[in-house]
Amino acid sequence: MKAAVMRAYNEPLSIEDIAIDDPNPGEVLVKTAASGICHSDLHVVEGGLPVPPPCVLGHEPSGIVEAVGEGVTDFAPGDHVIGCLSAFCGTCKFCLHGRPYLCMSQFLPRLDGTPRLKTGDDPMGQFANLASFAEKMLCPERALVKIRDDMPLDRASLIGCGVTTGLGAALNTVDIKAGDSVVIIGCGGVGLAALQGARITGAGKIIAVDAQPWKFDIARKLGATDCVDASDGDPVAAVQELTGGGAEFVFECIGLVPTVQQAVNMTGRGGTTVLVGVVPVQKTADFSPADLVLQEKKITGSFMGSNRFRFDMPKYVDFYLDGRLFLDEMISSRIPLTEVNEALDQMRKGQAARQVIIFD
Ligand SMILES: [Zn+2]
Ligand SMILES: [Zn+2]
Repeated sequence: MKAAVMRAYNEPLSIEDIAIDDPNPGEVLVKTAASGICHSDLHVVEGGLPVPPPCVLGHEPSGIVEAVGEGVTDFAPGDHVIGCLSAFCGTCKFCLHGRPYLCMSQFLPRLDGTPRLKTGDDPMGQFANLASFAEKMLCPERALVKIRDDMPLDRASLIGCGVTTGLGAALNTVDIKAGDSVVIIGCGGVGLAALQGARITGAGKIIAVDAQPWKFDIARKLGATDCVDASDGDPVAAVQELTGGGAEFVFECIGLVPTVQQAVNMTGRGGTTVLVGVVPVQKTADFSPADLVLQEKKITGSFMGSNRFRFDMPKYVDFYLDGRLFLDEMISSRIPLTEVNEALDQMRKGQAARQVIIFD
């Protein structure tokens, strides 16, 4: 089958023919229908995440089950599925505590040690148990969830990572009450999903902040009540003005130190800053501990939308089909696998919302 392989950091992915094994016990073979291209794929290519080459990237997929291994009872050939990097073991304290996205055994290699993917006789890495930049995926069953057949598979793929990360930050990580004021910093795929989560919970003012004002048309369509152009004046002062002293919730969806600091300063008394964007591990941020105490502000991280994806993703699919979650607007282009490198370039330049690879 054809796959996009990372042979070395900072090099274009190479489109190769590689071999995929038959399912072992507990595994599912999926024909990939679509795969979103996520910023984490780019982080891997740039050496920012500890994933060694050679490796097939891609971790935001949808597809159709082709075969199942021994003992698999939750899936059957023909099922429509979404894949998620938050595979869960089901028995560790985080899984049992209802926070499977923090599972300590997320990467589920085969018990017999054989590779799922090969090139010639050599094992080939599989990113996040998924490796969705390929015509087929061989996954542990606990990396997959079954969805309704009437959900379009290209839009379903977005739910696999970016939409779940943003939507879940608003719906799971914190408790937004109807009427609360919410600020979203960064109107990329994750930020726009967090913005929609705020709208779905019934937030009052929903303020989109971005330095690229062309994104405000789509932000307004998805539920923003106000937009702040961070390239024109002080965005903290603008948010303070719009909210009468700071918002109840501020979501940082970019992952830069300056915007993290702005997020804390945009948060009002008693409010919560939610850090969704991944700041590079070497960086630190400054903020005043006294403000946190005297104004009882909270800062929390949000990882993968605090997901329990087998519960959340079918619900997000319902939201889409009910007309409450907009996904069509979030797809900037649909491309074949052979154009993956151009798509990564577009992402480097910040020119695309969400690009989706479509397989035949
Ligand atoms: Zn991702
Ligand atoms: Zn676990």
